[in-house]
Amino acid sequence: MTAGHTGNPSTAGRAAALSARLEARPGMPPGPKASGPVRLVRAPGRVNLIGEHTDYNEGLVLPAAIDREIWIAFQGWDRPEVELTSAEFDDTRSFSFEGLSPETRGAKSWIDYVAATAWAMREAGLPIRGFRGVMNSTIPIGSGLSSSAALEMASSWALAVPGAPRPDPGAMAAIAQRGENRYVGVNCGIMDQFASAAGMAGNALLIDCRINQFTTAPMPTGLSLVVCETGSSRKLEASAYNTRRSECELGVKLIAEREPGVRALRDVDEAMLERNRDRLPEVVARRCEHVVREDARVMASVAALRDGDLDALGRLFAASHASLRDLYEVSSPELDAMVDIAVSVPGVIASRMTGAGFGGCTVSLVERRAEEALREAVLAQYQKRTGLEPRVYIVAAVDGAGEVILGA
Ligand code: ADP
Ligand code: MG
Repeated sequence: MTAGHTGNPSTAGRAAALSARLEARPGMPPGPKASGPVRLVRAPGRVNLIGEHTDYNEGLVLPAAIDREIWIAFQGWDRPEVELTSAEFDDTRSFSFEGLSPETRGAKSWIDYVAATAWAMREAGLPIRGFRGVMNSTIPIGSGLSSSAALEMASSWALAVPGAPRPDPGAMAAIAQRGENRYVGVNCGIMDQFASAAGMAGNALLIDCRINQFTTAPMPTGLSLVVCETGSSRKLEASAYNTRRSECELGVKLIAEREPGVRALRDVDEAMLERNRDRLPEVVARRCEHVVREDARVMASVAALRDGDLDALGRLFAASHASLRDLYEVSSPELDAMVDIAVSVPGVIASRMTGAGFGGCTVSLVERRAEEALREAVLAQYQKRTGLEPRVYIVAAVDGAGEVILGA
């Protein structure tokens, strides 16, 4: 089984608590009882180091799966149904595989992410099995650390028929992404699902979103990954995200009129963009410039990580943040303040907004000795500057989704 985590005391404790909650929950009478042992699957959230708004432009991203995870304890059963409790919401929901389709989806609910995954797996020709389960999570919900993708990837493991062949992580990510796009109705790229599916402990993943393939980029030893949550709402995000996507598409269309072979911004380099700038509305040109240069920054960051070139990492993160703020216009005063505070702390190597923007989190690479200084600086200064309460997470890069083998 891939990504099997060996049991440790906290793993065992969390597993026992989930299983107890599952066993204590009344069944769903009438009908066959669930049988077999309680199994456990997990899926991590993710933080993107660099490469923002590039995934839907067939470009490059560099996320890491992080040790903030969703776990599902479940028992398979022979009915075409899922019944799942979210411990965070203290809410139990169910859905049937019969007639499952985006058209007949009921009122919006968190269970949609599970149903979406079941629908997309079945559409892709993968066999699925019903289960009853309980889940809990250490991923902050709606903060940009991809709790939704983790929920989908954990679901994909719980829904899988034991022993059936499993697509590779990139293919499984594409299936889950299709579920989120078509069934939930969120027009996300593939990065979140991919990172949650394919994560490798101690590594970031360089994902080529054109071909859905990845290579690993080791995190430098001695550096910590710190996520700072701004606590600011992302309510502008959905509409602005869709607008950015259409601006990029318009850029591609106008450039392709003169440059045959251009299918996506991935095909455009800086020289080509300059040659064609006069064809583009000013805003569209700025959006394209961000994407084209961000792809180049991802490659430069991978080299800097490999060479341990900390100065270069600092410059690349700063350039990415400035570009997202000024050219792509998806930062916010809160994100800018958080980055500002972080880079003023000695030992903070690099800091930028991460995720789609308008709120959510920043990501920083930090010398280990500076972890606490960063935390203190954020706690002391951020609320004064913004009136919002920050959260600081020191995270580690972990393996992607899989079954947890207890006692292994
Ligand atoms: P993000 O993926 O950045 O955390 P999203 O808005 O994409 O934010 O996804 C958040 C949604 O995922 C929640 O509104 C909920 O529907 C679902 N979700 C995430 N975590 C849980 C959980 N622990 N229990 C139930 N639903 C969850
Ligand atoms: Mg999400």
